[in-house]
Amino acid sequence: MKDAEILGSPVYCIEVALWDIAGKAAGLPVFKLWGASTDRVPAYCATGEVRSPERRVEDCHRILDEGFKAVKLRFHSDDPRDDIRVVEAVRSTFGDRLGVLVDANQAGVLPGLGGHRQWSFQTALEVALELERLGVVWLEEPLPRHDYAGLRRLRDRLGTLQLAGGENNHGVHEFKLLIDQGCYDVLQPDAVLSEGIYQLRKVAALAEAGGLYMAPHTWTHGIGLLANLQLVASIPNYSWFEFPHEPPGWPASALSQMLVDKPWIDQDGCVAVPERPGFGFTLDEELIERHAVAAFGQGPKR
Ligand SMILES: [Mg+2]
Repeated sequence: MKDAEILGSPVYCIEVALWDIAGKAAGLPVFKLWGASTDRVPAYCATGEVRSPERRVEDCHRILDEGFKAVKLRFHSDDPRDDIRVVEAVRSTFGDRLGVLVDANQAGVLPGLGGHRQWSFQTALEVALELERLGVVWLEEPLPRHDYAGLRRLRDRLGTLQLAGGENNHGVHEFKLLIDQGCYDVLQPDAVLSEGIYQLRKVAALAEAGGLYMAPHTWTHGIGLLANLQLVASIPNYSWFEFPHEPPGWPASALSQMLVDKPWIDQDGCVAVPERPGFGFTLDEELIERHAVAAFGQGPKR
């Protein structure tokens, strides 16, 4: 599977299917097969859009009502001071009732993403110090994913603000480099993108030895979300769990539309790990059939 990535898209999702079979054969959910550490993980509401301070305060009233204890905001504006104003509005309205995390998405800036410009080290530092002053939990991807020296230099300047990242890094060896170079406080590999899910257990062990947390990226689909959930529920150094939810465009139910039971948070703002064998999901076969455009070994669907 690692070598397949040389030639095309990652195919690590196949390993998820194999562990699902192994769990079902053993009659155990995968996180218990791997030695459960917890049966539920605190979730933060991961938003995806850039919105005005007024609109975000309105959103955060809903997010708190829904039961989340933390929210993640995107910093994609031309001038990061506009994004900082959103954090200031949320912090002054809700105080410590709602934890705030920030994602700058600077680790893999693609050409053509309107308004999402590359930060200099100086910009990353100024934003980070401002976020620290505002009591933000973590700043995600402030610099390019291979700027190990820059990340380390930035982290050395910070106190309480954690640096998070890794969703665009691949492979155990690269994560070891990120740990050894002291780039992050929180690692964010994804069980269906970054390398096989069992390999990420090894990354988690290296992170544990280095005093780091694991908080996987989960913006793929319901299966990816549950695979990442089972992964972190099997390790001791889990942190906030990413729960993408940005209605009306990107509600959590859309991300998990191929699943019969849509994952959601409990009354404490945690995601409970399904107790069913394997990864604990049932596919909505009818919906998948209805939306399939082609299936392996067959021509296009009519
Ligand atoms: Mg991210």
